[in-house]
Amino acid sequence: MTQLRDPHDTTGLDRDAFFIGGGWTAPATDQVIEVVSPHTEQVIARVPEGTPADIDAAVAAARRAFDEGPWPRMTPAERIAVIEAFSGLYAGAMVEMAGLITLEMGSPTSFANLAQSPAPWMQIEAFLAIAREFGWEETRPGALGAPVVVRREPVGVVAAIPPWNVPQFTIMSKVVPALLAGCTVVVKPAPETPLDAYLMAELLQQAGVPEGVVNIVPGGRETGAHLVAHPGIDKVAFTGSTAAGRAIASVCGQQLKRVSLELGGKSAAILLDDVDLAHAVEGIKFTGLMNSGQACVAQTRILAPRSRYAEVVDALATAVSGMAVGDPTDPATEIGPMVAQRQQERVSSYIALGESEGARIVTGGLGMPSGLDHGWYVRPTVFADVDTRMRIAQEEIFGPVLSVIAYDGVEEAVRIANDSEYGLAGTVWTADQAAGLDVARRVRAGTYGVNTYTMDFAAPFGGFKASGLGREFGPEGLGQYTELKSVYLETPAG
Ligand code: NAD
Repeated sequence: MTQLRDPHDTTGLDRDAFFIGGGWTAPATDQVIEVVSPHTEQVIARVPEGTPADIDAAVAAARRAFDEGPWPRMTPAERIAVIEAFSGLYAGAMVEMAGLITLEMGSPTSFANLAQSPAPWMQIEAFLAIAREFGWEETRPGALGAPVVVRREPVGVVAAIPPWNVPQFTIMSKVVPALLAGCTVVVKPAPETPLDAYLMAELLQQAGVPEGVVNIVPGGRETGAHLVAHPGIDKVAFTGSTAAGRAIASVCGQQLKRVSLELGGKSAAILLDDVDLAHAVEGIKFTGLMNSGQACVAQTRILAPRSRYAEVVDALATAVSGMAVGDPTDPATEIGPMVAQRQQERVSSYIALGESEGARIVTGGLGMPSGLDHGWYVRPTVFADVDTRMRIAQEEIFGPVLSVIAYDGVEEAVRIANDSEYGLAGTVWTADQAAGLDVARRVRAGTYGVNTYTMDFAAPFGGFKASGLGREFGPEGLGQYTELKSVYLETPAG
């Protein structure tokens, strides 16, 4: 059913309505978001910009669907059947979805065809499998001699706020468990990436999701803030920067709203001294630089044993300098543009900062990559001689910039890995898996890989420390969309 579009064809992407109440609703104002290609710097689409009045309409529709509509009252099996239909439709639209995300935010096709739509589809399938086995209602013997029915009921109307870097990945991790639990949702896509959300709305509509169960209003920070503070919202599910997460958590704290936060990171890859360097460097090209470095789990601090430091720096410099940088629609491209000019400037300012802090550039540096004269590109950069206290080793850069830090002994490697306000991810690379697992147990991060880093949607994902609150994926991720209720019985249920 999917029509394969030419990757450079941007005709027909404009939209003039929001998906509210199961149909297409005219915006309250004529404010528009211009979606700009990070490669061509040209406007590729215009969509309406959500304002507080549009959010109010979306929350009202979601509230009605929750308070009066069929969705929360259906059985889990009935909801599962609708999400199965959605999954089938999504599978058929994955190529188009990945292509849209490449156009709107510049994700290289090679990454988009792995993570921007196949991974969200795998999430749907994983959540379906979990929901089929989930303990929606169980009867416990009780401690007082009478049974207790323990139920998991939907948490209510959910505000889902994703970032632009992996838009479908971060929408799906919220919308699908919310729907399976019986919640209704208002999604506010980031202004850089509204187009994929429009396609998702069409698929949800075709799948037969009842009216008002999912509502989609793209907009910026103020629109998001209005949604978060709206009294009609019961839970906020947010992925984005730690700064925004703190602001959202404080509003939710005041209002005692449920909140889950997936925030920033500054993860470390630890190379032990028995490392297979070629394997580790291949791994780091992915874990450190995926999505052009615009990934929350990016492992951009490379911790190398001092005895092999020069060898590690050389191998990384060679590998990174050989990466193909350019047009993200070219399947050979490994590093595409930054999402926006402000992001290009931000990453460039960190490259300048690293030099001024005394770190040594071994590949990359300031300026455009060779052969490119337009687009928001930066040169993939590797810094050597980085000290853990430097700002380039502490702050999330969100671009293709690696910092190689020397350590003496595993104790120090673990201490440096933990010397961060963040705790989202990490890896250890070693010939000895048991030694790797030992390191994994000691690093304070929500996900960790030993000689690999592949997110498994059957297991919880999330951050320690300033990387977040709560978990997505796995039964734990589904549980975030439920409230527990205990019903005390006088006698055993008949
Ligand atoms: P951002 O925080 O600026 O914006 C994220 C989303 O929140 C956008 O939709 C934005 O419009 C909205 N928003 C911003 N401020 C808000 C507020 N006060 N109230 C309500 N909504 C608000 O982040 P970004 O630049 O879009 O994304 C990059 C960040 O996201 C990075 O820090 C990255 O690490 C993080 N991220 C984390 C994960 C994870 O799972 N932990 C995944 C992807 C990205």
